[in-house]
Amino acid sequence: MSRTLFVTTALPYANGSFHIGHIMEYIQADIWVRSMRMAGHTVHFVGADDAHGAPIMLKAEKEGITPQALVARYAAERPQYLNGFHIRFDHWHSTDSAENVALSHDIYRALKAQGLIETRSIEQFYDPVKGMFLADRYIKGECPKCHAKDQYGDSCEVCGAVYAPTDLINPYSALTGATPVLKSSDHFFFKLSDPRCVEFLQQWTTGSNAAGTKHLQPEMLAKTREWLGADDGEAKLGDWDISRDAPYFGIEIPDAPGKYFYVWLDAPVGYLASLKSYCALKGLDFDALLDPAGSTEQVHFIGKDIVYFHALFWPAMLKFAGRKTPDAVNVHGFITVSGEKMSKSRGTGISPLRYLELGMNAEWMRYYIAAKLNARVEDIDFNPDDFIARVNSDLVGKYVNIASRAASFITKHFDGVLAYAGDTAALAAEYAEQAESIRAAFEAREYNRAIREIMAYADRINQAFDTAQPWVLAKGIATADDEQKARLQDICSRSLAGFKALSVMLAPVLPALAERVALELFGAQAPFTWADASALPQGVAPFKHLMQRVEPQMLDDLFEPPAAPAVVPGGEPLADTISIDDFARVDLRIAQIVNCEHVEGSTKLLRLTLDVGEGRHRNVFSGIKSAYQPEDLIGKLTVMVANLAPRKMKFGVSEGMVLAASHADESVDAGIYVLEPFPGAKPGMRVR
Ligand SMILES: [Zn+2]
Repeated sequence: MSRTLFVTTALPYANGSFHIGHIMEYIQADIWVRSMRMAGHTVHFVGADDAHGAPIMLKAEKEGITPQALVARYAAERPQYLNGFHIRFDHWHSTDSAENVALSHDIYRALKAQGLIETRSIEQFYDPVKGMFLADRYIKGECPKCHAKDQYGDSCEVCGAVYAPTDLINPYSALTGATPVLKSSDHFFFKLSDPRCVEFLQQWTTGSNAAGTKHLQPEMLAKTREWLGADDGEAKLGDWDISRDAPYFGIEIPDAPGKYFYVWLDAPVGYLASLKSYCALKGLDFDALLDPAGSTEQVHFIGKDIVYFHALFWPAMLKFAGRKTPDAVNVHGFITVSGEKMSKSRGTGISPLRYLELGMNAEWMRYYIAAKLNARVEDIDFNPDDFIARVNSDLVGKYVNIASRAASFITKHFDGVLAYAGDTAALAAEYAEQAESIRAAFEAREYNRAIREIMAYADRINQAFDTAQPWVLAKGIATADDEQKARLQDICSRSLAGFKALSVMLAPVLPALAERVALELFGAQAPFTWADASALPQGVAPFKHLMQRVEPQMLDDLFEPPAAPAVVPGGEPLADTISIDDFARVDLRIAQIVNCEHVEGSTKLLRLTLDVGEGRHRNVFSGIKSAYQPEDLIGKLTVMVANLAPRKMKFGVSEGMVLAASHADESVDAGIYVLEPFPGAKPGMRVR
């Protein structure tokens, strides 16, 4: 039975570029969507920028532009990532849109009519210089427990204590440094603790959709049961503060001048706004599509950090606004790189754009991520050696290899015509069964199982080919008898039929490659659907190269220190103001360069051996190869960051960082200059 699906991914916050975590989520959702479409279902797959909130407002202000201009800048770069990785949203919109204003207003009014909106006066820190209320992250001060300085308003990074900003000793505004004052203001609350909400959520979180899919994964259900107090009968749901005072970049609340929806209220509404905008473009009936009594399935893909919003607030908001509730909230874990959590500032993450700019094949990444993902909320790790092995040995070595080996015999000896000996119905049935198993694995988001099974089929096809030794059969084929010719044609035909079936199974993961296989190699009129797996091909075009292997050098280049930030006229803008205590956290030391050498295979790095007067030497990689010969640096003194967390790089662990000056834009050839202290400084001396 054909289903209609409305699928979304989490809306990226529009104050930065996509990172590899975004790309992973989009690839996960895109594979799912493609597989569902191949099964004949109708899918509306939409995304949008999450454009509102204080961080965007403040960042824009600092750059001297409007928030809209800031959001537009990031929106403009989205397509190169999405197209680059074959992520095909039907539509991309913004929460800063007319549709979102109208829908947010409607939902709010409906909740208010239900008696689920309450006004309360709350006391909050206010920055008298900036003239705005301060969110916890904009307040800093001394930890009330361990007395560490410069801790954020909600928790201490040193001792882990959690507290209210008002508990901080000597609080100050992180925006202006001013001492904040307590000021009261009326806020609007969504009454999540209302018994109606609790009762609904107890039922929704344990529910399934019409297709039998659970709304939540088991581990997420366990989490929400905790929040709902299902085990001890005591719901721990607080009411949700959904308003913010001006100045705020967001949607003004109806009949409440100067009050805005908190960004997290209108962000998920952005899913609906994007669909509505898409419906208008396509002439679809938005209200009919999302009729609460209708059959459309609403499926959200999100990360594990935003479960509370999507598994509690969002379904409850929709329910009591009289709207359709979600059918599935699919939660994934994070992606780590070589076992390390991503950190933009340290650059250990993979830049998706750099990946594409290096000419690396997007389908390698899609395949690698698919091979790692399952339906559970687990983190996955990007490991360069594993990446090379899976792409080169599995994808190219096992799968692509089948076609390149078998097609050449068919082209050379049989004019591209395939012929099978024996029972073709059984062969077709076998492929149909395998494809169904893979389709079901994709629908269940067990991608790693799907890839494992596909590679096992590829192994069997390769083994059958090797056992038949077609290269032996092909010897003297011109004068061979019909039986030998038929055997050669049969084994090559079976291999190619197997290759076609594998291509169908891999099509959700490798859409561009599968399309070439369908149209160019097998002469199909349209890209593959699941039904094509069991249709045995009758002919094949001459084989053309399908996929390159990964060069290990590409991974090295991918992990080189990231490029400097984008060009800003006149150089690089100054970083945020920090306190003397912030600076004191950076331990700078005089270091002697006791050895320096080239790093084999790296075009940018030098390996430095440094003495910081601690009775041992440190290994540090530095991207200064373009500016120095190793022998010029040996024996010199320089300055290093000595308490930087060791960082695993492609060539080894780097235990610190040498300071050097350079232009903000790498493409401006202004040189790189390693710092050197005045004469008299000794290794180990602190720089302050
Ligand atoms: Zn503390």
